[in-house]
Amino acid sequence: MSDIEIPEDHPRYESLLTRHRIEDGVDKGITSRQGLIAQGRGEAFDYLLGEQTIPSADAAERAAAAHLLLADHPVLSVNGNVAALVPGELVELAEATGADLEVNLFNRTEERMEAIVDHLREHGAEEVKGLTADGRIPGLSHERAKVDADGIGDADVVLVPLEDGDRAEALAAMGKTELVVDLNPMSRSAQSATVPIVDNIIRAVPNITRHARELQDASREELQRIVDEFDREEALAAAERAIREGGDE
Ligand code: ATP
Ligand code: MG
Repeated sequence: MSDIEIPEDHPRYESLLTRHRIEDGVDKGITSRQGLIAQGRGEAFDYLLGEQTIPSADAAERAAAAHLLLADHPVLSVNGNVAALVPGELVELAEATGADLEVNLFNRTEERMEAIVDHLREHGAEEVKGLTADGRIPGLSHERAKVDADGIGDADVVLVPLEDGDRAEALAAMGKTELVVDLNPMSRSAQSATVPIVDNIIRAVPNITRHARELQDASREELQRIVDEFDREEALAAAERAIREGGDE
């Protein structure tokens, strides 16, 4: 609930804040009840990672920034959890990289689509895609396949935070470069990503924006070098090690 005050010096401040934002999201019709369960899974992994951005995640966030800056048509996919947790931060990332924002839901209802679009607009977004839904991702059932033809349908690079495994795999099969934020390095979403970012979305999005701003004037060659030097297998292995060893890589 938004009226609950959490003392900033509470040792688990960020985790409690995250929980309240998700609860608020459910109250506002932005986040689904399924989203609460996804949040619980995420929290468990974040706890094991020491609730910090591990060095391999920071490298993945820099590679993601380079991909977004190099892209012809980057799109940031937004679901109910992401909209509740980092709406303003996503708008900033879209601005820093020239990306489109598109709402994309696992449990799609027109009410929730519109609530999320309005919520993003309240946080400064101008154009938000997703309502036209005139494109399809091959290989998925009807409702879950819907995208905007001039949005994710046309994108070469897509940031998909907290995406379900099926759709992450289907987008990868379409040949899109997928940047996935997921705290579980073993999830199919992370496993099918071009760039798996094993970090909390709350830390990941502002950090990708910071890297994108830093790289704003970098040459295409330099951006390409950052992309080429990123090793997805090593990043996944480093995250698994960090979980086993209690937050240290
Ligand atoms: P799979 O990818 O193996 O098919 P799934 O997609 O069915 O699994 P879900 O519960 O739908 O699993 O997805 C939620 C995922 O999002 C989990 O892997 C969870 O760790 C991750 N997650 C939840 N909250 C956050 C968060 N705040 N930041 C980053 N990742 C999160
Ligand atoms: Mg998943």
